[in-house]
Amino acid sequence: MNEIYVIGHKSPDTDSVCSAIVYAGIKGYIPARLGEINKETAYALDFFKTPAPQILENAEEKKIVCVDHNEATQMADGWDKAEIVEIIDHHKINFDYASPIYFHSEPVGCTATIIAKQHRGEVKANPSWAGLLLSAILSDTVVFKSPTTTEEDKAIAAELAAVAGIEDVIAFGVALKTKNADIDGRSIQEIIVSDFKDFDFHGKKIGIGQIEVVESAGIESKADEIIAGLQSLKQNGYEAVFFMVTDIMKAGTRLFFAGDEGIVEKAFGVKPENNSVYLPGVMSRKKQIVPELEKAFA
Ligand code: MG
Ligand code: MG
Ligand code: MG
Repeated sequence: MNEIYVIGHKSPDTDSVCSAIVYAGIKGYIPARLGEINKETAYALDFFKTPAPQILENAEEKKIVCVDHNEATQMADGWDKAEIVEIIDHHKINFDYASPIYFHSEPVGCTATIIAKQHRGEVKANPSWAGLLLSAILSDTVVFKSPTTTEEDKAIAAELAAVAGIEDVIAFGVALKTKNADIDGRSIQEIIVSDFKDFDFHGKKIGIGQIEVVESAGIESKADEIIAGLQSLKQNGYEAVFFMVTDIMKAGTRLFFAGDEGIVEKAFGVKPENNSVYLPGVMSRKKQIVPELEKAFA
């Protein structure tokens, strides 16, 4: 079998799904995903009339391209018996592999920015692809508010918007971002794991979930449920589990956790109360939470 699958990380987000679809389309590969499509991604797929990629249950014996991740903890099950042929990503590098491969990493706000830049011609000729990549950029950068946003993300997004026919990029981005913020009909447990990543910090298994909302009061009022949810999740072999409630408008995060309070104080310099701390200005898991926690767990 010479088929190559393009896959994003577990708990797929809009970047993981849309970058996989577009890159697979450009290369003639097969796009796939590792879990349910969230409401935000569903909105983008529907808007640009694109079907969701198939689920890949196990990557064993398959050739795969990993987009939007490079850590083993976030890869498809069976990745160690797969052949990874390429990685395109914008996260910190935590990758060790026995053979030489294509590895494209850039410190930009979104994997889609890298793909759009590398394949301008193909994307320009396909308004749906442009729309999907634009959605990914608006999602990952939280409509350009996240500190992960670069000038390149903004410039590429403007190009993509012109191709996709999106006149008001900010309005489209806000409409997109509010979809996941809608917590109605979902249990706290579902919300915690809907954007959840595992990390290996110095041999310790750490889990960090995030929800980005335009108004955080609703979910913060469920603090007791959130903490109980984290405590039960922690039973699955975690040293600690975290959940970021990020308020897009206030540009700040309330960080809930189940685990050692001392570590949280050491990481962020704030004494936790009731298993949470408020971190003004913090919006990015990879840039503002992961590095501090990784140091604190050393
Ligand atoms: Mg992602
Ligand atoms: Mg991404
Ligand atoms: Mg994200």
